[in-house]
Amino acid sequence: MSLHPFVNTLLDWYPQHKRDLPWRNTKDPYIIWLSEIILQQTRVAQGLPYFLRFAENYPKVENLAHAPSEEVMRLWQGLGYYSRARNLHECAKMVVDEFGGNFPENYKELLQLKGVGTYTAAAIASFAFGQTVAVVDGNVFRVLSRYFGISTDIASPAGKREFEDLANMLIPDEFPGTFNQAIMEFGALQCTPKSPDCSECPLRTGCIAFREKKVAELPVKIKKLKIRERYFKYAHITCGDFIVVKKRGEGDIWQGLFDFPMAEIADKSQLKEYLPDFVSELKKLGTLNVEKSSHTYKHILTHQRIFANFVMFVIDPSQIKQLNDWTKASGFQLVESYKLEALGKPRLILKYLNDEK
Ligand code: SF4
Repeated sequence: MSLHPFVNTLLDWYPQHKRDLPWRNTKDPYIIWLSEIILQQTRVAQGLPYFLRFAENYPKVENLAHAPSEEVMRLWQGLGYYSRARNLHECAKMVVDEFGGNFPENYKELLQLKGVGTYTAAAIASFAFGQTVAVVDGNVFRVLSRYFGISTDIASPAGKREFEDLANMLIPDEFPGTFNQAIMEFGALQCTPKSPDCSECPLRTGCIAFREKKVAELPVKIKKLKIRERYFKYAHITCGDFIVVKKRGEGDIWQGLFDFPMAEIADKSQLKEYLPDFVSELKKLGTLNVEKSSHTYKHILTHQRIFANFVMFVIDPSQIKQLNDWTKASGFQLVESYKLEALGKPRLILKYLNDEK
């Protein structure tokens, strides 16, 4: 069967350019597995001495399985992601106890091992056992998305499937391990994340990203936004025709807009009952009617979800001077209610005021 030119070019390129790494010259599934676990989220230069140390101390899976866990953790020290070390040890025990010291020989069974995901299972299955199953790591995403001009989000499940399907369509039955190694090495050395040297690239004539000048845009990875929840307790304080407002400062949402005196709290369940500390100071001014508490408003921003509750205080107009002194001292402002209309306000405040009409 004739191979895609992309595959042929990679298979030609690989033997001439590959780095000589110790786990490349073996078909021993234990050594391949060891290298793959150590190299997860780790650069080759950093992981190599760890690999050598583990391979020397534990040349067989049985040696690792029977090693004391403190010793394994000590050897791992400095590599980070310590759950990987624990999984490594657990997996070695599992191979010895449940599989008689032999790694399972196919992709599906390999997935049952502790700490072995789709990428590692595909690597072991193809490198050690010659199974035709494609590995898809960051390098593979990058090379495929650029060469084939695919802009599907690689962080989405649909994107992952699309790239896996493509890689599995391309992988040749004759050389599955070599193809997997070749595409990953090509991504690591030639089609690098930043400024790849496309002018020297053997794939450039067929590369869509190169032709359409989209190399820097591919692959597409949409970061999931972290949504932060915040809980605001507002005090809507009025006194005759006046209302207390607060101009929002720098370094937070709604800078320069006006809202009300408020306190931010950490516990959502307290929002309804909670009263800001400044209320006790307000009480010292004399007459203070706690009129009512609003329902809890939910307000959604790009990175934040605000839950806000408003409590209304009506101060007797005879206390206007004291209230004015207090607002100034507290960094708030006392404005005539009709002027509120002209002040810039967050939509949350507009919504609340609208409900209060
Ligand atoms: S031409 Fe550039 S973008 Fe395309 S495969 Fe080669 S290095 Fe990657």
